[in-house]
Amino acid sequence: MPCPKNVNIPEIFAIMNYHRVYQITEFAKKSCAEIGKVPWRNYENAAACVNRGACEKKCPQSLPIREQLKETHRVLAS
Ligand code: SF4
Repeated sequence: MPCPKNVNIPEIFAIMNYHRVYQITEFAKKSCAEIGKVPWRNYENAAACVNRGACEKKCPQSLPIREQLKETHRVLAS
């Protein structure tokens, strides 16, 4: 962060955790659908990622951010 495409990585990962950790998948899907459409989710969803990896170069945990964003989109935006 900040992502040049306004993808809010921590927020999207938090939404993914609703599914992955807490298993409240419908809530996670609803939250994902709100991205860019409601004032409290005023950012882009994972589909806006241009896949250049600027975030991964900055990540102190060396997370595979791009792959995790794609997975989030695959699981929650379909
Ligand atoms: S790889 Fe995607 S999420 Fe990461 S900084 Fe670039 S556009 Fe943003």
